[in-house]
Amino acid sequence: MSNTRLFRRSRLRLCLWYAGVMGVILSISGLGAYRALIRANWVAMEREIESIAGTLHDSVEPLLPPSADPTTVLRQLFPELCLNQHRCNRKPTVIQRHTMGISDRDTYYIRLFNHRGKLLAFSPNQPPNLSPTFNPEPWQTISTTQGIRYRQFTIMLHSADANPNPETQRSSWGYLQIGRTLAPLDAENVRIQRILVSWLPLVLGLVIASSWWLSGLAMQPIYQSYRQQQQFTADAAHELRTPLASLLATVEAILRVTFSNPQDTHTMLRQIERQGRRLSHLIADLLQLTSLEQHSSSETFQPCCLNDLISDLSEEFLELATDSDIQLTYDIPKPLIYVLGNEPQLYRLVSNLIDNAIRYTPAGNSINVSLEKSDHTAVIQVTDTGIGIAPTEQAHIFDRFYRVNRDRSRHTGGSGLGLAIARAIATAHHGSLQVQSELGVGSTFTIRLPLRG
Ligand code: ADP
Repeated sequence: MSNTRLFRRSRLRLCLWYAGVMGVILSISGLGAYRALIRANWVAMEREIESIAGTLHDSVEPLLPPSADPTTVLRQLFPELCLNQHRCNRKPTVIQRHTMGISDRDTYYIRLFNHRGKLLAFSPNQPPNLSPTFNPEPWQTISTTQGIRYRQFTIMLHSADANPNPETQRSSWGYLQIGRTLAPLDAENVRIQRILVSWLPLVLGLVIASSWWLSGLAMQPIYQSYRQQQQFTADAAHELRTPLASLLATVEAILRVTFSNPQDTHTMLRQIERQGRRLSHLIADLLQLTSLEQHSSSETFQPCCLNDLISDLSEEFLELATDSDIQLTYDIPKPLIYVLGNEPQLYRLVSNLIDNAIRYTPAGNSINVSLEKSDHTAVIQVTDTGIGIAPTEQAHIFDRFYRVNRDRSRHTGGSGLGLAIARAIATAHHGSLQVQSELGVGSTFTIRLPLRG
């Protein structure tokens, strides 16, 4: 229960981390995209003002009057502009139609200053309460009391007069200011901000939900491995407890009863020895399994001749097979087959399979061990005509402590670690161990090992 709580708390913490990191990344990206969009709109707006100002400048400059009082000429040039301290006339000029026609006529305004910065003329739609004092800054942003912003660009105008005024020595005629309202741009910015703000809770919700799901996925293998570890510890404890309990019971019996016959004492001691050996084997198996899973280094591998290994083991098990009335044969090809490996481990791998085959094959049947070369792989097969394994059991027989029939297996001396060790050895040698079996017909265990390069 407390472990479940621990896993749930870890999942929650992982989820919060995911959500936090993803939330920060998304917020930074959103902010970056928002700023890039605003910047792009701003740059486009400034370019438009500059381009209109340039066109107007090029169209107006050749027509500018050289005189100090340009009122009459300006009236002809810009009939739509209001001349400072004169009444406004609102007929559009050719120049204005040309330059302003492309844009909204109300969006832009124009102001003309002489070279001393005195306001000469202005559009009637210029921002209200705009100061008539000249500011030479090329770019300016102005805000009205109503909060409407304007962006304004100032460009110098030069007179077409070939002989500039010797008194002033100024070649500049004056300044042209062109500006536009930023209201549509500001409205667009507010619209984008609103979209971002309204999407934020939804996106955050999605981030949290996906984080919860992802953290669950990430925790799954850890949880599974934890459960396996727990199961392994429980199984190991159980397996150790049985021989230990039997051993203690025998010792207690010896202590309680005084045996007059030395033969009885001997039998009891043999029993203790058997249980002790069983315990010792079990612990050795557990240690080997752990060491195989922890250090699967192939640095210490040596060339091993599989032909010798199979013939040695077959000879070794011949007596046991004969005692069980089982015919044990082997097929080894003439050419020697070498693999890189740890010889004692490879002996253990094949002997586990032959030992199992003898244990799970009834008298009168046969076992065959074969070796062959296929592509770049050495293939060893241990085939018996024994009891076979049901398809549902085949997936589990390589699990640690798994036994198909516990009672029978214990009776035959098995601890359920044999095939787990065999598969761990095959894996450590970059090979595989598979089973094909039919209940009541027999089994074939196939080892595949890569040949020595
Ligand atoms: P054990 O030490 O109990 O034999 P193993 O890991 O070697 O454990 O085998 C796991 C189980 O697989 C055994 O309990 C047995 O039921 C089954 N098994 C293994 N080899 C054979 C075989 N050749 N024929 C039938 N069943 C087998």
